[in-house]
Amino acid sequence: MAVVGGGVMGAATSWRLAARGAEVVCFDRFSPPHAQGSSHGDSRIIRTAYFEGSYYVPLLHEAFALWRELESTSGASLLRITGALYIGTERSEAVVGSLASAKQHHLDVELLSADELRRRYRGHVVRDEDVAVLDRQAGILDPEGAVTAMLAQAPDVRRNTRVSSVDELLRDFDAAVVAAGPWTPEVLDWIPLQIERQVHVWFSIARDAEAGNWFAPERWPVFIRQTREFGDVYGFPSLDGASVKVGRHHDGDYTDPDRIKRRVDEHDIDPLRLMAATYLRGVSGNARRTLTCMYTNTPDEDFVVDFSPHDRRVVVLSPCSGHGFKFAPVIGDIAADLVVDGRTKRDISHFSAARFSAPPQVPDDQTDHH
Ligand SMILES: Cc1cc2nc3c(=O)[nH]c(=O)nc-3n(C[C@H](O)[C@H](O)[C@H](O)COP(=O)(O)OP(=O)(O)OC[C@H]3O[C@@H](n4cnc5c(N)ncnc54)[C@H](O)[C@@H]3O)c2cc1C
Repeated sequence: MAVVGGGVMGAATSWRLAARGAEVVCFDRFSPPHAQGSSHGDSRIIRTAYFEGSYYVPLLHEAFALWRELESTSGASLLRITGALYIGTERSEAVVGSLASAKQHHLDVELLSADELRRRYRGHVVRDEDVAVLDRQAGILDPEGAVTAMLAQAPDVRRNTRVSSVDELLRDFDAAVVAAGPWTPEVLDWIPLQIERQVHVWFSIARDAEAGNWFAPERWPVFIRQTREFGDVYGFPSLDGASVKVGRHHDGDYTDPDRIKRRVDEHDIDPLRLMAATYLRGVSGNARRTLTCMYTNTPDEDFVVDFSPHDRRVVVLSPCSGHGFKFAPVIGDIAADLVVDGRTKRDISHFSAARFSAPPQVPDDQTDHH
């Protein structure tokens, strides 16, 4: 089997295939973990009471178990539980959706009033109309550590090796999993993905908050906040004791992965600085560090995890739309199901490739290969 891409999705697929004893070769145009695609930047949010859809929750339960399995096989510490706060008005999607998922799946969440939120988390500026859902099974993943640990389980990783054509690859391999992140449209021309530039900024913590340890991971959950002025924003506890990382979900310009503007300027930083000044207490406007990253968006923001509608030897993974990282181990395991067994018992009906493509035209003789 060939895996195109050694970002977190290709790395996870390679790991899960190798764990089943399959022969797998993973190709990457760069040397992962690297900062050119989507799987970098010190931290990623993982959570359970998924407001984007309760059908994600069973996959998240599996993902948590597989993250722990990866930690024990690799010896790396990759997942830190901090809890997550979803902050908005009572009617916001983050609050309504996370409570609905929690109810349906009996999850451990707590609804906090504005007063309770103020009392527990001094770093949040809370308005009277705000409430928050505290999701206890949530925290931070280490993206570079995860890619490294997964690829260490894969016996054959070909670095700095760009795959120019999947058809050519299939002359040498029985099957290919395409996990090329923002470059997926270059490899598969039928898939309607849009690449969005994203920026993260680490702002310095003000002196009193630093002294009071307000943003330490034991005290400050990751958060997603739905705001009127800035849209959906999110932030992390401090991993270095001196700064906190924040970002805006889907604020970016559409781009091309080979021409993306990597440099972050004041025009990028200013809205996040204003957001931090409006909604966070104890965070200064001093940007200590920045990065760019890419979202690969489907039109409906659900993932693509499926056979290619044009060739069942090809499995396509586009689990991004800005929220895929946390699922990587289970997505990799599903990809292994598809290429090894030809099917999966997991419910991937929301992630079909056919929803974006002409009806499948698969010759009968290709359906039993895997
Ligand atoms: C700023 C930002 C914040 C995010 N926050 C979160 C979060 O908090 N929680 C969460 O769950 N998700 C989050 N996400 C989403 C998550 O990071 C992505 O879903 C995930 O990293 C996608 O991984 P990938 O392997 O598909 O893509 P990538 O990491 O981009 O990997 C694709 C790989 O394919 C390789 N490649 C491409 N073309 C070829 C080719 N032709 N030949 C060989 N190799 C090739 C590339 O070099 C690259 O290594 C965030 C994303 C961004 C950008």
